[in-house]
Amino acid sequence: GHEAARVHKKATEPTKPKSPLDLTAYLSKRKPHLSFVVLGHVDAGKSTLMGRLLYDIGAVDNKLIRKLKRESEVVGKSSFHLAWVMDQTQEERSRGVTVDICTSSFETKEADFTIVDAPGHRDFVPNAITGISLVDVAVLSVDCSTDAFESGFNLDGQTKEHTILARSLGIHHLIVALNKMDTVDWYEGRFRDIQFELRNFFESIGLKEENISWIPLSGLSGEGVVGTKYPLQQTWYKGPSLVGELECIARTSGSKDQATLESNPFLFSILDVSPSGKNGDALLSGKVEAGKIQAGETITIYPSEQSVLIENIYNDSSQNPQAAAIEGDFVTLKVKSAQHEDIKTGDIAAIVGYDVGTAQEFTARLLTFKLDRPLLPGTPFILFRGGTQQPARIKRLVSIVDKADPAKVIKKKVKHIGSNQAAVVELELTEKKRRIPLMTLEENKHLSKVLLRKEGRTIAAGAIMSLDF
Ligand code: GDP
Repeated sequence: GHEAARVHKKATEPTKPKSPLDLTAYLSKRKPHLSFVVLGHVDAGKSTLMGRLLYDIGAVDNKLIRKLKRESEVVGKSSFHLAWVMDQTQEERSRGVTVDICTSSFETKEADFTIVDAPGHRDFVPNAITGISLVDVAVLSVDCSTDAFESGFNLDGQTKEHTILARSLGIHHLIVALNKMDTVDWYEGRFRDIQFELRNFFESIGLKEENISWIPLSGLSGEGVVGTKYPLQQTWYKGPSLVGELECIARTSGSKDQATLESNPFLFSILDVSPSGKNGDALLSGKVEAGKIQAGETITIYPSEQSVLIENIYNDSSQNPQAAAIEGDFVTLKVKSAQHEDIKTGDIAAIVGYDVGTAQEFTARLLTFKLDRPLLPGTPFILFRGGTQQPARIKRLVSIVDKADPAKVIKKKVKHIGSNQAAVVELELTEKKRRIPLMTLEENKHLSKVLLRKEGRTIAAGAIMSLDF
């Protein structure tokens, strides 16, 4: 292919922001920000809930909401500035490397929010993984209508799978939206039964009760979603609505610490790339994973190692450039003179002077799930890291370690790894064309997270420990 051929000039000197930023003043003016994804079983009411939320908040008009329900992909591409739909080629699709990700933002008096969504195939597990890997909070929509919960939860198990994935990827808060409560006439007993069953399950996978919220609602009627209005027969729930709860979480965890922002180098996960105008400028959409950035600064994009100057920073709810972007923000960077063909979804950009490792082989610490067959050297799988997927295989089994204390090696000469074990393994990518940027647990906890999937099932989750053996 053509992609290995071009060599880029990597900058070594940082460039100064166009206008210096008073970070203290900037942070004091900003509302807390929180991002979230809506998960759950097919037909659990996810689309309806998101549409209702945006509509009642005043972020979309009537006509659009009808479209959103029928054909959210259309909304993502045209009317709603959910501008981050991947421009996928057939080739990329068949290799399964990227996922359609859209973001939509809205604000309340108290906080700014970003919903991360994969509109095309919301129920597809890899898309859920991508969404989860980008957000602070997961909203799990559970269908409370008679029998629906039983089939979605116990039989199909997608509710379970999404929750396990959220837990594995380190989501720190889960909001359970007990949805479609209108279908059971807001009967408290139904709410309690489902809560009881889910609670047992959450406990079994190690999710702590203090990190879980429970909200009865109806996405269809809107009760319990935005305001405080409930029907007369709902007398037993006194807590906040979904948005009220999101605001509450934003208050406690949506503000960033100034010292951390100043000391951590800027890191950016790229979700989408597109050319902008004729003179080689490009738009890079993505998420600020660490630190802060301003227009006028230069970043280097990995793995291609091309350095580009940032001309402007936009967020998707406003056409006006913003002064800065900080950790947790979803923004579009307008950059000068880029070779956009060499930038891909899943690339990582960093401030000049901070090197991001790229590799084809690396060591990871994994926790295996329930396996049909043990993991052996050579076992193929799909590696998920951030929003990307790569075919890979196990190169070498290094050791079995203690689940509670991974520094403690239990067994060294390992021939296979079974279900529910903690292990250190060497992994290699099998698609040899391109190295991918990888961060270790020590460098960035969040970006180091990986999931291994095989034949449509998650077989292990863990973190990258080092890029060389
Ligand atoms: P998704 O597959 O999870 O995105 O689910 P949808 O939002 O497409 O909803 C699936 C079905 O449930 C649709 O027929 C909706 O009209 C219906 N539905 C969604 N939310 C509610 C609700 O709160 N109450 C009722 N009665 N039906 C709902």
